[in-house]
Amino acid sequence: MAKLTFNGGIHPFDGKEMSKNIPIKAVNPTRDLVYPLSQSIGAPSKPIVSKGDYVLVGQKIAEADGFVSSPLYSSVSGTVKAIEERLTVSGKKEMSIVISNDGLYTESWAWEVKPYESMDNSEIIERIREAGIVGLGGAGFPTHVKLSVKEPQKIDYCIINGAECEPYLTSDYRKMIEAPEKIIEGLKIYLKLFPYSLGIIAIEDNKEDCIKVFKALTKEEPRIIVKALKTKYPQGSERHLIYAVTGREINSKLLPLDVGCIVNNIDTVISVRDAIFEGTPLLYRIITLTGNSIRNPRNYKVRIGTSFLDLVEENGGFKQEPKKIISGGPMMGIPLFNLDVPVTKTSSALLCMTDDDVMEMEPSECINCGRCVQACPERLMPKQLSDFGEHGNSEGFLHYHGLECVECGCCSFVCPAKRPLAQVIKSMRKMELAKKKR
Ligand code: SF4
Ligand code: SF4
Repeated sequence: MAKLTFNGGIHPFDGKEMSKNIPIKAVNPTRDLVYPLSQSIGAPSKPIVSKGDYVLVGQKIAEADGFVSSPLYSSVSGTVKAIEERLTVSGKKEMSIVISNDGLYTESWAWEVKPYESMDNSEIIERIREAGIVGLGGAGFPTHVKLSVKEPQKIDYCIINGAECEPYLTSDYRKMIEAPEKIIEGLKIYLKLFPYSLGIIAIEDNKEDCIKVFKALTKEEPRIIVKALKTKYPQGSERHLIYAVTGREINSKLLPLDVGCIVNNIDTVISVRDAIFEGTPLLYRIITLTGNSIRNPRNYKVRIGTSFLDLVEENGGFKQEPKKIISGGPMMGIPLFNLDVPVTKTSSALLCMTDDDVMEMEPSECINCGRCVQACPERLMPKQLSDFGEHGNSEGFLHYHGLECVECGCCSFVCPAKRPLAQVIKSMRKMELAKKKR
């Protein structure tokens, strides 16, 4: 089998050995559950509960506010304690529903379940919308919007992203090992929605065992193939995955569906499968708790709204005081300064690094080595873009295609002068995108 890849990219220390061989463990929260109203791209959801209301597991607590929005469900039974601003992973306070857990986990949902083959495509998409499913790989784009394609017959490939290229993260790996059948069942729902498409399960070749499992399980499935990708960061970025698997290219102005592709991450596909096969809304995330500060690195099945602090305490506290804590992976994650923030729909990991892991060096002058250009998977000129960013030179930034940056961090990673290239480019890009919106 050919191993597929893209230009540029890097090979950082992957740190996956720490947690990859330990089964997922379910953990229940001990603190109040906090549900920020904004957990996806699009409009924040609107609360439909009030302070003092009693809610059950699976009860809707906030309604989608428009087409590009997504409802929220309580993941515990208990009482609505407040609807107020609470600290989130972003470092800002955001309007949230706070629920006091009664510890009984009384369930409420009673969605009708019927074979997906007998459902209309519009009924399937509506169920996915109602289940509150969004892109769980981090983007948070509502899945029903992604699947509402005007001309479904023009979709050639439904790609399941099993790359998990971000270092340290192993939640997708564990799901592929523990529940491969669910992923295939989920993919078959996509294949019904897009009748002329081929299903591709794309996995990096450092997960040989997953590749073998999926090949064995799909050998009698004419519409599903398994593709081994060369292990390289950022192989799991949507753009580079599509290129590696199909040879088709997209840029910031195009969506995957413009080149006949639908891409979904492993957990998104499982959530779609659960909504259709079991009638359950999105209530859980699998979170990799890892890093050299963590006593027992592993993956947890976590109720959305649970504090990250609960996870660390469940794990026995830190074995060594962390120097740096990141929500997500080391390349694209968000540094955390307070652990008492909630797991949301787009959370994937908590990485706790020690002094030895975090190399702190002052940035120095660029030595014009060109490594950042070689590493950039978008073939950009990170040094120039960063200079434009530092001087607020919007014209230069746009002329040198700064909007095409995928914020992967490869340029900063390879820079021997330790220049914060990706951070500066990311901020400038954000400003330019905001200007465009206005
Ligand atoms: S410029 Fe953007 S896309 Fe290129 S390496 Fe840096 S962060 Fe990645
Ligand atoms: S990698 Fe760093 S030192 Fe080398 S050219 Fe780029 S910015 Fe300059």
